[in-house]
Amino acid sequence: MALHDKGAVRENLEDDIYASADLSVRMPKYRFPQDEHKARHAYAIVHDELTLDGNSRQNLATFCQTWVEPEVAQLMSECLDKNIVDKDEYPQTAEVEARCVHMLADLWNSPAEANTVGCSTTGSSEAAMLGGMAMKRRWEAKRKAEGKPIDKPNLVTGPVQVCWHKFARYWDIEHREIPMSPDRLIMTPEEALKRCDENTIGVVPTLGVTFTCQYEPVKAVADALDKLQSSSGLDIPIHVDAASGGFLAPFCAPELAWDFRLPRVKSINASGHKFGLAPLGVGWVIWREASDLPDDLVFWVNYLGGNMRDIALNFSRPGGQVACQYYNFLRLGREGYRKVHSACYQTAQFLASEIAKLGPFEVLYAGDMHQGIPALSWRIKEGTDPGFSLYDLADRLRSRGWQVPAYSLPADCQDLVIQRVLVRHGVSRDLAGMLLADIKRALEHFEQHPTHAAMTAAEASGFHH
Ligand SMILES: *Cc1c(COP(=O)(O)O)cnc(C)c1O
Repeated sequence: MALHDKGAVRENLEDDIYASADLSVRMPKYRFPQDEHKARHAYAIVHDELTLDGNSRQNLATFCQTWVEPEVAQLMSECLDKNIVDKDEYPQTAEVEARCVHMLADLWNSPAEANTVGCSTTGSSEAAMLGGMAMKRRWEAKRKAEGKPIDKPNLVTGPVQVCWHKFARYWDIEHREIPMSPDRLIMTPEEALKRCDENTIGVVPTLGVTFTCQYEPVKAVADALDKLQSSSGLDIPIHVDAASGGFLAPFCAPELAWDFRLPRVKSINASGHKFGLAPLGVGWVIWREASDLPDDLVFWVNYLGGNMRDIALNFSRPGGQVACQYYNFLRLGREGYRKVHSACYQTAQFLASEIAKLGPFEVLYAGDMHQGIPALSWRIKEGTDPGFSLYDLADRLRSRGWQVPAYSLPADCQDLVIQRVLVRHGVSRDLAGMLLADIKRALEHFEQHPTHAAMTAAEASGFHH
């Protein structure tokens, strides 16, 4: 190669990035690239492609955090190289994780918050797997001690998030999911009890059902299981899927007894990256007492001369999310979380009352902080045809960048289509007002142009988690 390749030098110095040799040709898409590319060029290509993703702040489908304080972004960047599994190398990250576990045990009223066990996970899904496996192991140990077979475990839940379908399928557990009925969209003690028997490893109520946003009645279910135990001897534990509610109810509905105040609640999972306000990639599972976590699920690792539990499905995992979770706990405290979430509930209530006034809709859930999460949902008034479907409306709003999913409910309410808005940290009253204006514009549009063939769920896309 020539010492002074003028052409190359000129390209380096002068070429506009989009006129460069890299960006004026097609980049490899599926074949592993042969050659190197300049960092600036590769960055521009990836960056530009990602701009076609949805704008996360307008994604009103997700429960996950889409806004963080600058300090959180800074901590995330400072922690880029910290591997949470390396407890010896990063002992303070391990220490911070352990403190979060105790703080959560305290928040959820563990009788022994200083001695409870628990851990961070990638999200509620991994936490649910761990909580579920512990239930299965405890049930197996008890059955074995009684000389009874362990080949037919079952799990009783209401209408659950997909992670419980995965848990049941991956670990060969019969899933007894209570179907919805038009007048009962969540678990009731009666329906749960009907499905319990000696092979039930546990009952999982959800604090913030994905489809309807409501809290399932954990205390009533626990009371019913207490009665079952006194009449039949069956002692069936509860694991609460508090993916959303675990970071809402303690601040906004502290009188609601759903947590370790109920002795039957043996474990709880929650998503730090949802209403815990941490960046994406952290969940938590906490056991009531150390004895509720079977020993054979625990791997012991040495760190700083001590012995530390390792309970996780993953090995390497980023540590930043846990550091940021700890930051949030210190930064906000109970009072700060209450303020952040109360503002969201108020905005959800505002949106619900405005949407009810529009005419075609019946609001099903209006963001009541004692009944569920800061969200709202609505349907088209029963027996009416406004000239569009909720899928059409979702599609129309999508053209302005809003993701407001419409979806049909699970069995046995598949015919009921609803639309839902999650109000998270960062969905301000102003932003809600702009969404409302766009919904009004969409209704005007449909008045002028009624749809002759309504869109289907598949055509309207929109993932509702
Ligand atoms: C979101 C959610 C999950 C899954 O949580 P991830 O943190 O996304 O893994 C499980 N259960 C419920 C009720 C949820 O809302």
